[in-house]
Amino acid sequence: MHDLSSYNSFGLHVSAQDLIVVQSEAQLDEIDLEQVLILGKGSDVLFTDDYDGTVLIDEIKGVQIERDGPDYLVRAGGGVVLDELIAELVSRNISGMENLSAIPGTLGAAPVQNIGAYGVEIGDLIEEIEFYDLERHVLQTFDREQCAFAYRSSYFKEHKSDPLFISRVTLRLNSVFDPDLSYKGVRELDPKSPYELRTRIAQLRRQKLPDPQEVGNAGSFFKNPVVTEDKLKELQARYSDLPVYRTAQPGLYKLAAGWLIDKAGCRGITHGHAGTWEHQALVIVNRGGARPHEIVALAQYVRSEVANAFGILLEPEVRVYNRQGEISWEQL
Ligand SMILES: Cc1cc2nc3c(=O)[nH]c(=O)nc-3n(C[C@H](O)[C@H](O)[C@H](O)COP(=O)(O)OP(=O)(O)OC[C@H]3O[C@@H](n4cnc5c(N)ncnc54)[C@H](O)[C@@H]3O)c2cc1C
Repeated sequence: MHDLSSYNSFGLHVSAQDLIVVQSEAQLDEIDLEQVLILGKGSDVLFTDDYDGTVLIDEIKGVQIERDGPDYLVRAGGGVVLDELIAELVSRNISGMENLSAIPGTLGAAPVQNIGAYGVEIGDLIEEIEFYDLERHVLQTFDREQCAFAYRSSYFKEHKSDPLFISRVTLRLNSVFDPDLSYKGVRELDPKSPYELRTRIAQLRRQKLPDPQEVGNAGSFFKNPVVTEDKLKELQARYSDLPVYRTAQPGLYKLAAGWLIDKAGCRGITHGHAGTWEHQALVIVNRGGARPHEIVALAQYVRSEVANAFGILLEPEVRVYNRQGEISWEQL
């Protein structure tokens, strides 16, 4: 058995039958296993129990940078730590990734959830993704369109039939600093360089989010819900201060899950050893020594309070795993 407490940012004491650190594509060729779970740093997962299969840790490293006209193409290993890559890029004045600064985890995991922050999603920056199909034993390459990026979703997240191991990611980035300052709170920063924007974003995040090294958590526990215009109007009639964001689809609007949880009276609450973060209600934390069922129970409580208050059922952003593999919230 292998302890997974340092491979899940909730810091839960769970284990796996076996664990293999993958450092090259050639190593993937030799893996022929029934039940596998691919992990980077475990900052977006909740284990409800021990895992009965083998965990593969993506530690494929290496960064290559080349010029392509006005752009840069940056090809890096899936096991590269995302924030370390961003630090290296801004030091060379290569920009585009700054808004994603200080998000924990690896580059290989980032496209799976199509991670995003402060108005930027990684999917917009992807040129191509190389991945290894562990069932069919083939290495494939997808361009951005084939990756089917959507809000916290991608082909890699939705494709459940066989495990796809992201080995390398190529990003198309800018040589000219043209920051995305569209997001409220970032608009006022007026950064003069990629380095300055990265530093300010990291500061903003520190004010709101707990450091998983100190307080176990997996960032936003729930996705921001998307509602119809009718539902939006109903809520706006009750709450004049309701934060609303447009989506790419006409007639659909995104609400802030953190705001809903806060209004439902669930910010800063504690149940057993689990709680919601005082500065951002969307984050569920391990207050020390929490067991998986305590995190689950608290999340279920928050979900039902929000449903009672607003008639909206929040969907978890965090990926949930039991002994056999991934489960949906309804299967808990
Ligand atoms: C404090 C904090 C703040 C956060 N802030 C944000 C934020 O602002 N925006 C945001 O979008 N997310 C955020 N997150 C969530 C998390 O950081 C991201 O989802 C990140 O991409 C997870 O990386 P990881 O390496 O830890 O992935 P893991 O948790 O190890 O894995 C996540 C999922 O991806 C799969 N996976 C991992 N690596 C690979 C691979 N190489 N190939 C195929 N599948 C793989 C796993 O099977 C799993 O389903 C935050 C988390 C924390 C703890």
